[in-house]
Amino acid sequence: MLMLRVITLLLCVVSYGVYAQQGPAVLLLNSYHPQYRWTEDIIRGVKDSLSSIVNTENLHIEYMDSRRFVDDKEYETRLIGLLKHKYKVYTPDIIITSDDHAYDFMVEYGETLFPGKPIVFCGVNIFKQATLTGRDNITGIKEGMEIEGNLELIMRLQPNTKHIIMLGDTTGLGLKMGERAEEIKTKWQKDRFKSKVTLDLWDHFSLAELYEKAQNMPDDSVFLMLAIHKDKLGNYFSFDAELPILAKQSRVPIYGMWGGLLIGNGVMGGMMNDPYQHGNAAGVMATKLLSGAKVSELPIIEKAEYTPFFDFKKLKQFDIDLSYLPVNSTVINQPKSLYHQYKIIVNATLALLVFLVIVISVLVDNIRRRIKAQKSLADLNMGLENIVLERTQDLDDKNKKLEEASVRLQEVAHTDPLTGLGNRRAAMKDIDAYLQRFKRTGKPFSLALLDVDFFKKINDTFGHSIGDDVLCALAISIKQTIRPSDRVYRWGGEEFLIALPDTQIDFATAVSERICSNIRNIRVANVGGITASLGVAVLQDSDSIDELIQRADVMLYQAKNNGRNQVLAV
Ligand code: GH3
Ligand code: MG
Ligand code: MG
Repeated sequence: MLMLRVITLLLCVVSYGVYAQQGPAVLLLNSYHPQYRWTEDIIRGVKDSLSSIVNTENLHIEYMDSRRFVDDKEYETRLIGLLKHKYKVYTPDIIITSDDHAYDFMVEYGETLFPGKPIVFCGVNIFKQATLTGRDNITGIKEGMEIEGNLELIMRLQPNTKHIIMLGDTTGLGLKMGERAEEIKTKWQKDRFKSKVTLDLWDHFSLAELYEKAQNMPDDSVFLMLAIHKDKLGNYFSFDAELPILAKQSRVPIYGMWGGLLIGNGVMGGMMNDPYQHGNAAGVMATKLLSGAKVSELPIIEKAEYTPFFDFKKLKQFDIDLSYLPVNSTVINQPKSLYHQYKIIVNATLALLVFLVIVISVLVDNIRRRIKAQKSLADLNMGLENIVLERTQDLDDKNKKLEEASVRLQEVAHTDPLTGLGNRRAAMKDIDAYLQRFKRTGKPFSLALLDVDFFKKINDTFGHSIGDDVLCALAISIKQTIRPSDRVYRWGGEEFLIALPDTQIDFATAVSERICSNIRNIRVANVGGITASLGVAVLQDSDSIDELIQRADVMLYQAKNNGRNQVLAV
């Protein structure tokens, strides 16, 4: 029996474990349905601010669907039963309500369903202060309504407006909003300036009637949307479906205050609240409470923030001067400039262009530098070439001079300075050439050695200078006597050598005789009777130069011995 009890207890613990929650749990009770954009945005706001402290699965979301089941008692009863059943297990630590119906519901049934649990409300347009009496566990953000702010805005944007029609309905909430509108209307009409504009509240019409009226609105009138849940026939009015139809039919603009619902559905704009911000603020409050703060430490926020919101398409349609818009306005559907549309491409293209310009300028700069460098290199080369040319020219000149000097030196080395004849060195060189030719061709060669007779006496008698003159006269005489192909050299002192190429001994002897004879006719100053002796020899097969000269010299010696003034040949 005891065993059975233990098992039962264990099973209970295990089954409780299935439902056990990790961390705090929150119930978010929404007035409307999940597909309602307003509610969607509030939920997003709540989720974002709770995410740091509440696990995703511990945020329980319920929907009262009271736009479509408005003032439906049956629905309410069933919902109470459902919540009681569900949250017996998933007991929430805190309840967040969105919009009026959920708040009113929790004020009435909260203590029964979730005794002692704190309630954070948001989205309450018509807040009844009495609901707080005897309750210390309620706080939140009043959404309020921004009727006056929107009336001011209408007059600012359309100063010629004469009629403002506020649109509401006769549902519970609609009537409460209507009451608020009536209060403002009364206040408005007391104002001397504002009383020129008539304010009306329309809340009893079928959708067809509303559309028809909208088509015939006078130019100086506008609509201000409060909230329409249903028309007088009970037809549901959706801000997503019916509002665009109304806006299309209407000759005049529609203003409104429910940001997430109205903007983009044909409303021109208005001082609007933001359901996301609203939900987010409620979430922040809930987070603080879950973190240990007390409800009394978090006073109720009296009004949500309403900021100017506009639809650009509608502003254009009704020709609104955009300079009238408040500076902090948000404008949707604004045509994007080409730049905004193609921002990335334009920026990328610009960046590419800038990059290309930089690359091109670097390249151009590079080219310019290269051209400059090439030019200075060319100048340098030209300079170098000129220097080389000058140096080469200089060198050529010097070489030429050197060659000329060398030739002159050569000439000087082979010339007798007194007579201008070739000297002994020149004679030896030429004779060697004749000898070589003889050896090659066998062409004959003869030579004669000439010595002036008693020359010392001439010097002694007439002076050395006259002696020189005689030597010069002798040179001329001999040159004139011989053939052009023959040569005469000053062999030394008063001795001459006559080379006779292609000449046999007989002819050589004859030429020598003629030389000897012509010398006798030379007249220099007072020197009379100049004579000379000659020895002639012809080149033999095995002769050396010395041997040939030696034979001629022997003949000359003999001619001297024979009494001078004669020719002897061997
Ligand atoms: P020989 O009939 O035996 O030849 O008697 P020579 O006087 O002519 O011979 P010698 O050898 O005794 O004298 C030669 C002279 O020639 C001596 C020298 O002073 C002179 N002489 C040599 N060269 C030159 C020269 O260039 N100019 C002058 N004026 N005299 C020279
Ligand atoms: Mg002599
Ligand atoms: Mg002599």
